[in-house]
Amino acid sequence: MEKIAVKIKEREKLYEVLIGSSISASIAEFIGKRHKNRKIGVITDDNLKNLCQKTVLNALKPLSPLLMSIPSGEKSKSREMKDKIEDRLLENKYGRDTVIIAFGGGVIGDLAGFVASTFDRGVPIIHVPTTLLAMVDSSIGGKTAVNTKHGKNLIGTTYQPDAVFADLDFLESLPQGEFISGMAEIIKIAATSDKALFEFIENNNRKILNRDKAALIHIIKRAIELKKDVVEKDEKESGLRQILNLGHTLGHALENYHNYKKKHGHCISIGLAIESKIANLIGKLSSNEAKRIEALLNRFNLPTTVEKNVDIDKIVEIMKIDKKARNQKPRFVILEKIGKIKSEKNNFSFEVHESIVRKAVELYRK
Ligand code: NAD
Repeated sequence: MEKIAVKIKEREKLYEVLIGSSISASIAEFIGKRHKNRKIGVITDDNLKNLCQKTVLNALKPLSPLLMSIPSGEKSKSREMKDKIEDRLLENKYGRDTVIIAFGGGVIGDLAGFVASTFDRGVPIIHVPTTLLAMVDSSIGGKTAVNTKHGKNLIGTTYQPDAVFADLDFLESLPQGEFISGMAEIIKIAATSDKALFEFIENNNRKILNRDKAALIHIIKRAIELKKDVVEKDEKESGLRQILNLGHTLGHALENYHNYKKKHGHCISIGLAIESKIANLIGKLSSNEAKRIEALLNRFNLPTTVEKNVDIDKIVEIMKIDKKARNQKPRFVILEKIGKIKSEKNNFSFEVHESIVRKAVELYRK
């Protein structure tokens, strides 16, 4: 089993991310050691209930955990669902002595993390990510959230877990569309900070698509290390953490434009291709490297273009309310090279003239 230690300096919180196969018994062992006599609440979604029962729940059986399964999908990341889970815990006399386990993708991780951060003023949470995206991205870094009618992820906390257990066996049942969605985030982090990882993915794309365990362990471990390096330096996104938003100014606008019906990773993939073009148009990234990024996304069957009939005016309007925007001017993370982001002092996102943004989107309209 591989181990990566995450150290959040501000609150001296230290936790481990464990990566391996068949690690349910290790979760039981960890809880036995660290959280002896605590009551365990396991939050999962209906698609994963059986997998959860056969694995983690089975390993924890002697500790009589309470299983809370909710409908799968983004709609469950709501204040109403948070209330329901909290009521279930309270009805079952759970209190200060609770430990929460989040078994699922980013939706379960974000929601369960938020529940844990406020339940009885905060109880420990252990993440057991089951999607590639959750393993390399959402379970690392402590962001929790629910959505409201006003937008995505607008209410939440920053709350670090006690441990993360990434079991590669769980990826076996993951649908291909979800798998490649996670690949978009791995390609993103490689493009921002690690040319060697980017090249490894280029050279091993077939193996990765076939979910070869050795190749997967390599890219998952490296992607987690890279995200860990960023969140250790900037937990609250006041500087460096902005680099994780490469492809996200446009990607988030597309998600919003499509009413969150398109997969997050697929919108981020389009965002990565177009934002690479933006970096090229302003003279930062070479056209050869912009093309390499687009080609790699395409090799994973990820989309890189917007539909012909897309309303560019509306997308530009949505980008003005992006979290990085200042004075209603959208800002972008700019690639200088594969593996290198533009930065000035502690600033990692930059305003780009609207005409350039429109031109780049036009070029990727198919
Ligand atoms: P998800 O949690 O909705 O999971 C996708 C689908 O796959 C669901 O239907 C789920 O039931 C199913 N699934 C999960 N694991 C499976 C498995 N092993 N086998 C079969 N089916 C499985 O989506 P996601 O892509 O994991 O996460 C997206 C969410 O993560 C978004 O809400 C996004 O905002 C959030 N996110 C958070 C952060 C963060 O830092 N907190 C970062 C990135 C994304």
